Amino acid sequence: MFPNLRLFVITCLDPRVDPAHSLGLELSDATVVRNVGGRVTPEVINDVAFISQIAETVMPDGPLFKVAVIHHTQCGAGALADDSFRRRYAQRIGADESELVDHAVLDPTATVTGDVQRLRSTPAIPPRVTVSGHVYDVVSGLVQTILPA
Ligand SMILES: [Zn+2]
Repeated sequence: MFPNLRLFVITCLDPRVDPAHSLGLELSDATVVRNVGGRVTPEVINDVAFISQIAETVMPDGPLFKVAVIHHTQCGAGALADDSFRRRYAQRIGADESELVDHAVLDPTATVTGDVQRLRSTPAIPPRVTVSGHVYDVVSGLVQTILPA
């Protein structure tokens, strides 16, 4: 179950940013977690921590794997910045509206920077895991690295 490229991708569920296509990944190349916006939520941190623990079992020394957080332009998660949309969505899923506002992606460079810092600073992720941040442009198809590993 460990990916051939030692790569863990966190990105948006938007069909335009499917990493099998946008990054040219083949089967078994990478572990991929996708959610609204490609945000580093507590659930995503737990997923990276789980794979870290698996990796530590088979690799006692050296680097474990790379995490690439990829946000994108024209992200639909920007809708969460709209008060009316966010209020209705919060009621729909039974969530706290004030927490959802942080999930909006309006400036992908800014949000990916914050999410990389969140992953790098959590004690659940060992320092042997490297984390980088990128923005995918849905128009040009190009990926820009914002924070290198
Ligand atoms: Zn998106």
